[in-house]
Amino acid sequence: MSDVKDLRISVIGAGMGGLACALAFAKKGFKKIDVYESASNLGFVGAGIQLAPNLARVLDRWGCWAKIHADATTVTSSSIREGTTNRELALVKMHDVVDLYGYSHCVGHRASLAGSMFEACQKESAITFHFSTALETLNNFGPDKVSFTVKPRDGEAYDVETDILLGADGIKSIVRTTLLKSINSSAEVEDTGQAAYRIMLSRSQMEHDPEMLELLDSNCALRWIGEKRHIVAYPISNKTIYNLSTCQPDTNFAVAPSMTYTTRGDKSVMMKVGATMAIEDAAVVAECVSAVPVTDGKIDREALSRSLQVYELLRKDRTAILVDMAEYSGRILHLGEGQAKEERDRQFAEGHKKGNGIPDKWASPEVQQMIYSHDCVASAQENFAEIFSSLTREKTNGVAK
Ligand SMILES: Cc1cc2nc3c(=O)[nH]c(=O)nc-3n(C[C@H](O)[C@H](O)[C@H](O)COP(=O)(O)OP(=O)(O)OC[C@H]3O[C@@H](n4cnc5c(N)ncnc54)[C@H](O)[C@@H]3O)c2cc1C
Repeated sequence: MSDVKDLRISVIGAGMGGLACALAFAKKGFKKIDVYESASNLGFVGAGIQLAPNLARVLDRWGCWAKIHADATTVTSSSIREGTTNRELALVKMHDVVDLYGYSHCVGHRASLAGSMFEACQKESAITFHFSTALETLNNFGPDKVSFTVKPRDGEAYDVETDILLGADGIKSIVRTTLLKSINSSAEVEDTGQAAYRIMLSRSQMEHDPEMLELLDSNCALRWIGEKRHIVAYPISNKTIYNLSTCQPDTNFAVAPSMTYTTRGDKSVMMKVGATMAIEDAAVVAECVSAVPVTDGKIDREALSRSLQVYELLRKDRTAILVDMAEYSGRILHLGEGQAKEERDRQFAEGHKKGNGIPDKWASPEVQQMIYSHDCVASAQENFAEIFSSLTREKTNGVAK
């Protein structure tokens, strides 16, 4: 094979990451992309989602942003309040986000984000969706052969051979578990003991109450914080829906009466940037694979492995920092009465007055700068060659990582 775009790309899962992977590779000109999804259709469930400038930048390159932006709410301020009293601890003005980063910070409906990516995928002849088809086992994953077994819901299981396998099969990923086991690493997921409940109020449920209507018609993302819990709330879908997500201690998921009790079994801690990071990951992995050098008219598997290692190096620090920050925010926002809370509230008040950083990392201007200004595609294009050449053959040992 002499053209990298002829590589067979297999994606497991058609969630946020899987749709983005398929689209990213198609936009780079790859010709054979297969997506295996256990659900019979995408049936987009879920509620609101934060659409930050760094995400908009990626989606705009793929031609998806305009449609998502059309029914999203532009956030012009973020208000952090004490849950028990509604006292405002800080108000962060976000009017200048578009001037600083080229895109506003928006909030929208998950169906709008996933639906637009799916629609864009359907326009790409290179992408084939296999719904009702679940990954059963991963048989080989390199260096020479990558193969796995899938099972259609009403049919016989069959084996698939591919060149690149992208595991986007969510929090209970078979791909991740198998890969980690193969290197004797634990794939255990730690339960946070917390759950997120999503509440969607329609305009007709709110319009009788002037205070509620004011919330729906605002451009403010609100956060009510309290001991071991918080609520995030904002209007979505052209302000026809008020979206509230709670984050609270909960053990009920373990005894959930049915899958409808949770949202497709996902009981993870509320990560406000999880989908955004999955979409950035997709854009970067497609950049890295498409930059694989062809040697003597052939694609060398070792070079392919190295390009995937470049992807890992490009992404690891950023995603790890954001996960740490999510954990920190969880701790600091959920403080109960005591000295630590008093100190936190003092920092809120100071940041509020001076326009400085505040303890709520997501609303803090310096953190927004770090998250929003990043152009993951430009960064991959600028840094690929240098990182690729710095990795020696011996280091990668020809094994796909
Ligand atoms: C309450 C809440 C609010 C959130 N808000 C935000 C937010 O505002 N902004 C943000 O960026 N992120 C947010 N997130 C995080 C975000 O939703 C996740 O990080 C993101 O959906 C992860 O994408 P994914 O593609 O890895 O997994 P998923 O989107 O879960 O997709 C996995 C897909 O794989 C399929 N699958 C699973 N196993 C198999 C198999 N064996 N074979 C075939 N298919 C399979 C599943 O059916 C599913 O379609 C939030 C999360 C929660 C819980």
